[in-house]
Amino acid sequence: MLLKNGNIIITPSGIPYDSLKEEDLVICDQNGNVVSGKQKPSSELKMHITIYKNRHDIRAVIHTHSLYASVASSTLKEVPIITEDAAMVLGNKIKVTNYKSPGTQDLANEVSRCLKDTNATIIANHGQVGIGQTMEEALFASIMCEKTSKIYILNQI
Ligand SMILES: [Zn+2]
Repeated sequence: MLLKNGNIIITPSGIPYDSLKEEDLVICDQNGNVVSGKQKPSSELKMHITIYKNRHDIRAVIHTHSLYASVASSTLKEVPIITEDAAMVLGNKIKVTNYKSPGTQDLANEVSRCLKDTNATIIANHGQVGIGQTMEEALFASIMCEKTSKIYILNQI
């Protein structure tokens, strides 16, 4: 989440979400330097920073490896929007990025390119990202990305 002073709160690397505590969160500046926190920031810190730098209208980024978006990420170039609720936040399709290695600036740039005009994208052979003005909006975009991927994949069976 982007703070008013330009710093970023991000989850740590290597701690399972179900055991995550508030004190495990890490605050970084926009150059990736840790400002406070005892843990190492997420290995996708560059991706989060680059999205915030390119989308000044959003303040929250959620990156997941949710199952159906991950399936879509390994086989598809895009996923068409199927339901009205997803269309309201994601437009008419979800793009799948070109493959880039995890944790790299190349991945950060590619994800950011695909988020130029929408609030979610699927990361090739990896997972997905949802963004919004609030954590709730970013979560909703991620849920709509997962739901759309699931419906599309189940419709193929
Ligand atoms: Zn990831």
